[in-house]
Amino acid sequence: MPAEKCTCLKKEARVHVIYVGGTIGMIRDESGVLRPEHNVLAKRICDFPSCHDRNYIRKTDDESLMVLPAVAGAPYRVLYDIVEFCPLLDSSCMGICEWQRMANEVGKTYKTYDGFVILHGTDTLAYSASALAFMLENLSKPVVLTGAQISIFEARSDGRENLLSSLLIAGNYNIPEVLVFFGNKILRGCRSTKLHSDSFHALDSPNMVPLGRAGVNIEINSRQIFRPCNTKPFSLHSVLDKNVALLRIYPGISLNIVQAFLKEPIKGVVLQTFGSGNFPVNREELLDELRAAIARNVIIVNITQCSSGMVTNTYETSQQLLDVGVIPGHDMTQEAAFTKLAYVLSKPELDVINKKKVMLLSLRGEMTTNKVAKINDIDLIEGVARTLHMSTALERKQMCSTFYPALVAAAVTEGDVQKLGDLKQYGANLCDTNCDGRSALHLACFLGKANVVCFLITAGCPLNVHDRFNRTPLHEAIDTDNHDIIQALLRNGAKLNDQPLVQAELLRALTERGKIKRLESFRVAGANLTLADRTGRTALHYACQLGNHEVVEYLLPHYDNPYIKDELGMAPIDYAKAANHAHILTLLRFRENELVNQDPCTCIK
Ligand code: ASP
Repeated sequence: MPAEKCTCLKKEARVHVIYVGGTIGMIRDESGVLRPEHNVLAKRICDFPSCHDRNYIRKTDDESLMVLPAVAGAPYRVLYDIVEFCPLLDSSCMGICEWQRMANEVGKTYKTYDGFVILHGTDTLAYSASALAFMLENLSKPVVLTGAQISIFEARSDGRENLLSSLLIAGNYNIPEVLVFFGNKILRGCRSTKLHSDSFHALDSPNMVPLGRAGVNIEINSRQIFRPCNTKPFSLHSVLDKNVALLRIYPGISLNIVQAFLKEPIKGVVLQTFGSGNFPVNREELLDELRAAIARNVIIVNITQCSSGMVTNTYETSQQLLDVGVIPGHDMTQEAAFTKLAYVLSKPELDVINKKKVMLLSLRGEMTTNKVAKINDIDLIEGVARTLHMSTALERKQMCSTFYPALVAAAVTEGDVQKLGDLKQYGANLCDTNCDGRSALHLACFLGKANVVCFLITAGCPLNVHDRFNRTPLHEAIDTDNHDIIQALLRNGAKLNDQPLVQAELLRALTERGKIKRLESFRVAGANLTLADRTGRTALHYACQLGNHEVVEYLLPHYDNPYIKDELGMAPIDYAKAANHAHILTLLRFRENELVNQDPCTCIK
């Protein structure tokens, strides 16, 4: 199911494409060698009908933008431009400077676009994606890195498909993450790594399921999307510490090599150890070097050399590294561990103790943390599990899926945002729905818990989810006349998306019952009070017929055309006349005068 897009009112999305180099835009020279070529990509892409709809652009003023042809299932037409870096680089020639340039380009143009696509060589794409994931703080728009194994200009290229899908994702989905699109998979950038040099599926995220796939439809795994629990605005952290190294341990590694890696000015080292984090602990001289470096405040992070799996302290050989003060990097990729360390080390506001603490946190979903359950709610689960003698992971998982929704509902009822945050940390899915299709956000809106509503919105709970009764959180807020909550929902992209006839029926029912407060809540939520039902009658027709002058008085200012006729050719005033509601006739005349003063052509017959 596609994730929601907040700015649902518009039909177009603008995407900024940043072409930094790589095979995707390379051209073969006379000797057959692939080289990046300047000022070619954008020009040639215009000629691909699958990449540019010439007819559409003629309807707009901005000729510089290219337009993707309409795609079934994609609500937004994607308009895009391409900026090119100079020089265009093979990604094996890139480093921290290029990551900074990419981050700066996104930062500079952040407000203008709905999403970003970075065209990049595949060799070090996962490093760039990981670095950007950390540097682009509080990201709220998708940044998709993609590339190709065969140039887009060759007949059999994966580049065109990768570009098109990336544009669609960047323009149509509200995924606030740095992503990698490759070989039909949408991956979290800081979980990605290059696994194959000769396959269209060059990149993957071995320790995490993809965030989505582009098959016949683009399917997004919404539950996996990482949404931080804060409302801070986007900011750019464009500095990284260069004094970071990657040290791969191999059998018989010499002391000199280890010393060279840990020497000044190095401030951080990612140690790639064997299997689940094992180090040759029988080499006391190597352990001494690590100890000495840690004493000098060098931060050492342990990750595995294996392409999947994580470091644990299963063996003496891994436990001793922890004892020495090495930080476990869990299941981070080498790209994520390296760039995270460079990022954390460049934070002047953190002292070394806090830098180490931050290395243990999952900042962008880059690693699976083994947080031990501590809070009372979790103790409850453990307690129940133990009492019931449930011990396997599956049984525990089932317990959690039974208990978490109840705990989340209890925290919502108590208005306890702190507890909700804790539950999220421990694995509760705050966006889950119950058997009636109702979410925590439905409940919070129903209970009028404004603080919880804001928290859940920030935590990424879908705003327009319909329950079994076709009700969204916005309906709940309307039904409790909570205008603050209605406005918070609207600001973040909620929409009253009932069919006009359904809305007209609701307005009729409220009018008949004289529910002015509720009518006003509907209006605040975006309802059009002048909608007509199947018989062409509006709320004003019914109020005039029933003689409810208070409702008429409320409705009239919202009617620019109070003499709107129903299917029988009757205007509201006709019903008031027929029923002889003198007071209402006065109100209608008064409104007529107001309108005539605004526009002399107006006249109620
Ligand atoms: N060497 C190229 C690069 O990384 C490979 C590619 O684009 O796939 O730039």
